[in-house]
Amino acid sequence: MIDKRLLDILVCPACRTPVRLEGERLICQNPECGLRYPVRDDIPVMLIQEAEKPPGKAEGRGAGGEAR
Ligand SMILES: [Zn+2]
Repeated sequence: MIDKRLLDILVCPACRTPVRLEGERLICQNPECGLRYPVRDDIPVMLIQEAEKPPGKAEGRGAGGEAR
């Protein structure tokens, strides 16, 4: 189980929005971003390259595009 206090300080590295735990994943709460980070052995993997894009999101807009 992930420590609640740890969750409180975790933010999405792509947009710096807090994430929420949903099942086995941490999901960015920014609707423009929505990246999903895996949790391995109770350790959140907060890496953009490890994150999944939200389903139904069009490529080329939104997630991952804001810093380029
Ligand atoms: Zn994000």
